[in-house]
Amino acid sequence: MLAITQRLILNKMLIQYHFLVGLIVSFLLYPVYGINVLIIFFVNLLVDVDHYIFYIFKFKSFNMIKAHNYFFNEERPFLLFFHTVEFLLVLLFFSFYFKLAFFALIGVVIHLLLDTYEELREKYIGRFPSIVWWYLRK
Ligand SMILES: [Zn+2]
Repeated sequence: MLAITQRLILNKMLIQYHFLVGLIVSFLLYPVYGINVLIIFFVNLLVDVDHYIFYIFKFKSFNMIKAHNYFFNEERPFLLFFHTVEFLLVLLFFSFYFKLAFFALIGVVIHLLLDTYEELREKYIGRFPSIVWWYLRK
């Protein structure tokens, strides 16, 4: 487990990485997908909103500062819906019917690849990658 200060630094880096990598990938995909790359870019940035949703449901509170602190102090892994394989599968299914879901899927995949890279590099995984995995471990 990483110390809280290390995790804080890691998280700050991740926000910058998500922005930078999202920008680069969007720029590279612009000739192919045009203005739709904005969906990819913003979904890539907004995936982490599930942290706040998780906090609201768990603590029945909208306090963003406490939510922010919670994720830095919590040592046990948690389930973040937008960070699961099942969410990817739902997006994959809908991407066959809706372009929006297709571009959202690309944004989520970029986000999760970067999260996974950072977690492997830091040898710290703070979330369950699957709802089924989370359910079976309860
Ligand atoms: Zn994330």
